[in-house]
Amino acid sequence: MKNLKVFKFGGSSVRDAANVKNVTSILQSFAGRPILIVVSAMGKTTNALEEVVGAHANKTGKAFDLLNAIRDQHYRIMAELFDPGDEVYAAVNDQFVAVEWVLEEEPHENYDYMYDQIVCVGELVSSTIVAAYLNKIGLPTSWLDARDVILTDEIYREGWVQWEETVERAKAKAQPLLEKGGFVLTQGFIGSTDSNETTTLGREGSDYTAAIFSFCLDAEDMTIWKDVPGVLTADPRLFDNIVKLDRLSYREAIEMTYYGAKVIHPKTIKPLQNKSIPLYVKSFIEPQGEGTLISSDVEDHYPPMVAVERNQALVYISTRDFSFVAEHHMSVLFNHIANLRLQVNMMQNTAISFAVCVNDIDDKVERFAQQIQGEFKVMIDRQLELITVRHAQPAVLENLRKGKILLMEERTKDTVQMVVKNVQVLDWKEVE
Ligand code: ADP
Ligand code: ASP
Ligand code: MG
Repeated sequence: MKNLKVFKFGGSSVRDAANVKNVTSILQSFAGRPILIVVSAMGKTTNALEEVVGAHANKTGKAFDLLNAIRDQHYRIMAELFDPGDEVYAAVNDQFVAVEWVLEEEPHENYDYMYDQIVCVGELVSSTIVAAYLNKIGLPTSWLDARDVILTDEIYREGWVQWEETVERAKAKAQPLLEKGGFVLTQGFIGSTDSNETTTLGREGSDYTAAIFSFCLDAEDMTIWKDVPGVLTADPRLFDNIVKLDRLSYREAIEMTYYGAKVIHPKTIKPLQNKSIPLYVKSFIEPQGEGTLISSDVEDHYPPMVAVERNQALVYISTRDFSFVAEHHMSVLFNHIANLRLQVNMMQNTAISFAVCVNDIDDKVERFAQQIQGEFKVMIDRQLELITVRHAQPAVLENLRKGKILLMEERTKDTVQMVVKNVQVLDWKEVE
């Protein structure tokens, strides 16, 4: 669609009433232009909803209390934005009641399915509140249910987008709303299956949602509004001496985010690259700033960039009879890895052992170990970090290794990856 812009506002940009007002003041300067807005759940709502899911699954008796605390938090935000009689309260309440219905049932046997039916409420209420506030201040905004557009397969918590149908549905549902004039506002992170069951696209998936809409509707450009001035050479929460990158190629952005630069969801870039849609990363705190422009045709000349992935586990696997870990073993191991959807970040094969570095989430690593223990000897080292450096310089690497034990390293032309253990993590007493 001609002149369409897609904006994504993440959790921190709408974490409280003052921030919602800030977002709407940014949007005010785009009044009258076709904009599709994607919003995430407010602040850390998704984390809080994950606790509701856990409490329900484990029948701790706390699920309703945890849900009520989330509802209260949203009511406090609404109280600062709307008059007491505003119809937004009923709309938001209805969305929470839908979750109560889930909690009144026995926990569903498919945890991931149940997870999606509960956590989706974060984006639903957030989008309802922001759209209502935009309308209240005189910026006409249509609320669009992203589940009517984004069709996924039935892999809950990690739905795969069915592109053809999604493009068709975006044209049928979103385009007419945009042509009507005013903004269209929808939820990040959520989609639905063929049989109208809610799915989610993976944690932090709202950036990806914005890219899906940009692709389907041929947006002119897309902007992700963040609490940082743009893409930086490393996470400012972890490092000093970082600088903003003014421009990045799609390729470099894919590499950085794939290796764990938390500023953009890794799946975001590819759909944009396929249609040459420029992506801006800008600050919602200083919206006038230039931000970072991600596009094609950028000269590949970058300073060192660092990404850190925490919660890594190294699984060392050897055969019980000291034979080599050979091809047929690999196929058994990778079968388990694929079935568990264990994300492999690095691996190394030596004469007698195979070591694999994976994301240590939920109980996947334990389950993997259990499944292969009959056939293999397994050792697991946890609480590790995977540090990736693009365009490394020796001094940078030396600095990064300080206070850490290097367990595995891999170098390719532009990338150095290290699996490390922080010295402080070692519990010497237990080792004795
Ligand atoms: P959102 O509110 O959209 O979900 P996030 O909190 O997920 O935003 O992402 C923004 C955060 O990403 C920043 O506050 C920053 O700490 C972190 N971050 C990690 N790596 C980078 C990087 N290379 N450049 C900028 N920010 C980064
Ligand atoms: N609310 C979801 C999450 O926290 C999606 C997102 O914020 O991108 O993971
Ligand atoms: Mg986020």
